[in-house]
Amino acid sequence: MKKIEMEKQAKAFGFATMKFMETKDLEFEHEFRQFCEMNDCGNYGNNYACPPLCGTPEEMEQKVRKYEHALVFQSRTPVQNIFDDAETKIIKKMHTNKTLHAVEELKEQGLPDNGMFIMCGPCNFCEECKAKAKEPCVNETMRFSCLSAYCIDAGKMAKHCNMNMEWNGDVVSFFSLYVF
Ligand code: SF4
Repeated sequence: MKKIEMEKQAKAFGFATMKFMETKDLEFEHEFRQFCEMNDCGNYGNNYACPPLCGTPEEMEQKVRKYEHALVFQSRTPVQNIFDDAETKIIKKMHTNKTLHAVEELKEQGLPDNGMFIMCGPCNFCEECKAKAKEPCVNETMRFSCLSAYCIDAGKMAKHCNMNMEWNGDVVSFFSLYVF
């Protein structure tokens, strides 16, 4: 599988860009966990893929370090109001669905199928995560956590991948990874 071909496909999948990197170049900032603890998103303790249920920052980093390579997806989507959670949540979900679709397609082209997703938002396989009702997760093997839950420094990752981080409030950038 040629890297150049993968990058060309980004547009077809609806991404701004798609880049390969090595997981050794990802930077983990364990102190980012405090932002999850503030629970502005309401998912803290309410989603199995989110802190504290997903694991400690150290455990999360270890999960990623088991893999050598990462395919990083970036979307850049125009927004009416970047501070409107309802609007950005929909875009986040679209980005997640595009990532799931792209990886399925790329597996047909040789992308290893034993990888793991790191998404831009928490696991959303269920309408409402079973963690809320203290019921068991229904999709333990497939559930995905987000970059924040892994304490990945997304800014440094984007810089490493030479991705466009220009920001003037009318475009939102989301990232996801498939590590393999
Ligand atoms: S699969 Fe369902 S129950 Fe499991 S983490 Fe995802 S949303 Fe929660």
